[in-house]
Amino acid sequence: MTHQNHAFETRSIHIGEEPEFFEGSKNEVVAPIYLSSTYARKAVKNPGQFQYSRSSNPTRFALEKRYASLEKTTYGLGYASGLAAESALLFTLLNPGDHVIGFDDLYGGTKRLFNLWKEKYDLGVSLVNAAHPHLVEEAILPQTKLIWLESPTNPLLKVCDIAAISEIAHRHNLLVIVDNTFLSPYFQNPILLGADIIVHSVTKYIAGHSDVIGGAIMLNDQKIYEKLKFSQNALGAVPSPFDCYLVLRGLKTLSLRMKRHESNAIAIAGYLEKHPKVERVYYPGLPSHPQFELNAKQASGFGGMISFEIKGGEKEAVQFLESLELFTLAESLGGVESLIEHPALMTHASITKAERELAGIKDSLIRVSIGVEDKADLINDLDQAFAKI
Ligand SMILES: *Cc1c(COP(=O)(O)O)cnc(C)c1O
Repeated sequence: MTHQNHAFETRSIHIGEEPEFFEGSKNEVVAPIYLSSTYARKAVKNPGQFQYSRSSNPTRFALEKRYASLEKTTYGLGYASGLAAESALLFTLLNPGDHVIGFDDLYGGTKRLFNLWKEKYDLGVSLVNAAHPHLVEEAILPQTKLIWLESPTNPLLKVCDIAAISEIAHRHNLLVIVDNTFLSPYFQNPILLGADIIVHSVTKYIAGHSDVIGGAIMLNDQKIYEKLKFSQNALGAVPSPFDCYLVLRGLKTLSLRMKRHESNAIAIAGYLEKHPKVERVYYPGLPSHPQFELNAKQASGFGGMISFEIKGGEKEAVQFLESLELFTLAESLGGVESLIEHPALMTHASITKAERELAGIKDSLIRVSIGVEDKADLINDLDQAFAKI
């Protein structure tokens, strides 16, 4: 049976785990965890579908099929982490001296990876406010190869016009990569907007339970896929069969989780916007967000990430964070449990205070990953913590 034409909710459960999902399977309803590192050949010149698990493994094969299906692409590839997938992209697509244009509010680890490539391979990097597509076009140089986007970004939830930037990129023969971690394939499919390659930190919403580190790449271009498939094996940063199993399992509830993350986030963003101790709320699902319309046009949802500035500064922010009982003070995001953090002191502490302020990351800024708990319980916890400052 083929499920390719079914809705997201159906594909996220069945694609890759059809009872006869690969040659020789035993009609399991759930894809087994194939631990074997190697596979016996029928004959020297007849290797069969699987040979060695770094190159390909049945559990990973099932997951990679599902990755492609959920982003509506032809190909999917699994990696040991989001950054392993990003490293594979840089390694596969770039040569020394090339130039990359990135959104100025990209994930910190992506900027750190770019810096590493700057030092080792003379990579040129221009970070621009891609919320204004003309700034992307103005940054194009003869040696530019890639445009690297996120929408919305972290931690300021800036949104960029993926279709407009892809159109600019293709006029200049450049590839557009979108890190689609924040909205997940449930709410946004960048390839359908004109992007060339999608990368995910599977660690976040896709796995969804804060118990896996993983990455993924999805794309349509066969030539680039073949290069990536080659480098995936040559570089070797592949996910374990157990992690692939956990992601296959987590994905079955992605649609349910995303809807709940979002309905909780809309309620909490509205609550925060009205709170007298809150200076400003950043959430693309609030009509007051400068790119509310754009996000509504290019995605089917707004996601579960909110940032806000508390009135006062670091002292008030820390006091608030340490007074919470239900929200866990932790880095990362996208799990079923609500997590909260202080970007200036935690996720973005590696950037200098001057750079942070230039980027708009104030000491009063707090970032929240809204979980799927009961929203009244979450709001009550925020309420009691606000009352303590
Ligand atoms: C976490 C994250 C990454 C890095 O992924 P890892 O799985 O931690 O390596 C990349 N991009 C975004 C937007 C992230 O949130």
